[in-house]
Amino acid sequence: MRAFATLYLALVLTPLAVVLAGPVPASVAGVWWAVAMGAGFAALAMMGAQGLLTARIRWVSALGPTDRIFRWHKYLGIAAALMVVAHPAILVVDAPLRLVYLNPFVAPGYMTAGLAAVVAMLLLVVTTVGRKWFGLRHEGWRLGHDVLAATAIVLAAVHVERVRYYLADPLRHAVWVACAAGWVGVIVYARLVRPALLTRKPWRVVGVHRERGDAWTVSLVPEGHAGVSFVPGQFAWLTLGRTPFSAGDHPFSFSSRPGLPDGRVEFTIKELGDSTRATGAVAPGTRAFVDGPYGGFTTSGIDAPGFVFIAGGIGIAPILSMLRALVEARDTRHHLLIHAGGRWDRLTGRETVEGIQLLLDLQVVTVLEDPPPVWDGERGRVDRAMLARQLPHDVHRYSCFVCGPPGMIRDVVADLRDLGVPEGQIHAELFDLF
Ligand SMILES: Cc1cc2nc3c(=O)[nH]c(=O)nc-3n(C[C@H](O)[C@H](O)[C@H](O)COP(=O)(O)OP(=O)(O)OC[C@H]3O[C@@H](n4cnc5c(N)ncnc54)[C@H](O)[C@@H]3O)c2cc1C
Repeated sequence: MRAFATLYLALVLTPLAVVLAGPVPASVAGVWWAVAMGAGFAALAMMGAQGLLTARIRWVSALGPTDRIFRWHKYLGIAAALMVVAHPAILVVDAPLRLVYLNPFVAPGYMTAGLAAVVAMLLLVVTTVGRKWFGLRHEGWRLGHDVLAATAIVLAAVHVERVRYYLADPLRHAVWVACAAGWVGVIVYARLVRPALLTRKPWRVVGVHRERGDAWTVSLVPEGHAGVSFVPGQFAWLTLGRTPFSAGDHPFSFSSRPGLPDGRVEFTIKELGDSTRATGAVAPGTRAFVDGPYGGFTTSGIDAPGFVFIAGGIGIAPILSMLRALVEARDTRHHLLIHAGGRWDRLTGRETVEGIQLLLDLQVVTVLEDPPPVWDGERGRVDRAMLARQLPHDVHRYSCFVCGPPGMIRDVVADLRDLGVPEGQIHAELFDLF
C-alpha cells in the first residue's frame, strides 16, 4: 500500500504545491482566509483524486488489495467532504458578513456553484456511509454516487475557475485546468469509455449449474475474441444480461482455472441479494460482459513448499481456481485446505474438492458449524486452537490464502500471525468492497 499512498499524495499535493509556488494574491484577507483557501483547494484535489482509485485502471488496481483501496477511497472521501465543509465554514466564522455568499438569491452564480458542490459532497458521503441504514439498493446507490461525484467536481471546478484568486496567473491556472480535465477524464473513462470497450468483447452464457449451498456455477465463452487472461484467484466484474453501461456489474472470482478450451471461464456465485438470487434464472445464450482480471489474491508466482488454503462458505470460489491450476500444472507439493461451512449437505464445492484430491497431494480438513449426528471431523468455527491442531508444524514456511466472511478473515489472519506465519505470507480476499 506504500505505492498507493505515494500516488495519492502526489495527486493531491502536486496541484496544491502549484498553488503555493507563485505570488500570494493581492486579495488575501488574513491568515484564516488563506487557511480556508488551502482547505478548498485541498478538498478539490482530493475529490479529483478519488475517482482514479476506483476507476479500475489496471496499474492503479495493482497498487494494493482491492478491498483496501476501496476502503481508503471511502475514508479519503469523508476527509475530502470535511475539507469541503471547512472551506466556507472557516470563511464565515472568520467574518460572519460573508454569510451572504451562501444565500443563492443574492450571491453570484459561481458562489452558489461552490455551495451546491458542498451539498453534493455531503449527500454523497451521507448516502455512502448510511447506504445500508437507508436501505438503498446497490445499483441505485452506485448511479447516484457517480452523478453526485461528477456534479461536485464540476461545480467546485467552476467555482474555483471564477473566483480565481491564487489562479490569476496563466501558468497556475493552466495546471489547474489540466488537473480538472484529468479528473473529469477519469470519470468519463470509468463510466463511458471502459463500458464502450467492453461492448466490443461480449461473452455468452453456455451453462448455469446448481451447486450446494444456494450457489450456481455460470460458464461463459467469449464471442468473437480471445477471452481474458487471468491468474488463479483473481476476480472480474461480471454483467449478466445487461449493458455494461448499467451499474449492474458485480465482482466475482474466477472459479475455473485459466486456459480452459475456447477461452471458457466459470464463476461460482452464491445467492445473497437481489442480483445473485437471479443467477439460477439466467438462460444459456444470455449476453454477458467480463471486466477483468483484477486483484492480487493468487498463488501464481509464489515459491513456497506448499500452500494452506482456508475457505469459508463461498470463499471456496477463488481457491477452486487455484487448486485446479495446481492440478493442471501437475504440482507435486503438499497442500492443506481447511474447508469451513455450515452443513455437510450445503458445503459449496464439496465434490469438486474430492475430485481434486485424487489428482493433487491435498489434505482436506472439513469444519462444520452444524455437523450431522455422526461426524468425526472438526466442528464449530475455524479458531486458533483448531488451526494449531491442523496446520503443518512448519506453517511459517507456507503461504496461506484465506477467503470467507469478513469476521472469519479478520480472526483467521490474526490467528495465523500469532501462530508464526509471517505477514507477507498471509493473503486474504474480502468479498465486500463497500
Ligand atoms: C473481490 C470480490 C470477489 C468476489 N467473489 C465472489 C464469488 O466468487 N462468488 C460470490 O458468490 N460472491 C463473490 N463476491 C461477492 C459478490 O460480489 C456479492 O455477493 C454480490 O455483488 C452481491 O450482489 P447482490 O445484488 O446479490 O446482493 P445485495 O444484497 O445487493 O448486496 C449484498 C452486498 O454485496 C455487495 N455488493 C452488491 N452489489 C455489488 C456490486 N455491484 N459491486 C460490489 N459489491 C456489491 C455490497 O457490499 C452489498 O452490501 C465477491 C466480492 C468481491 C469484492
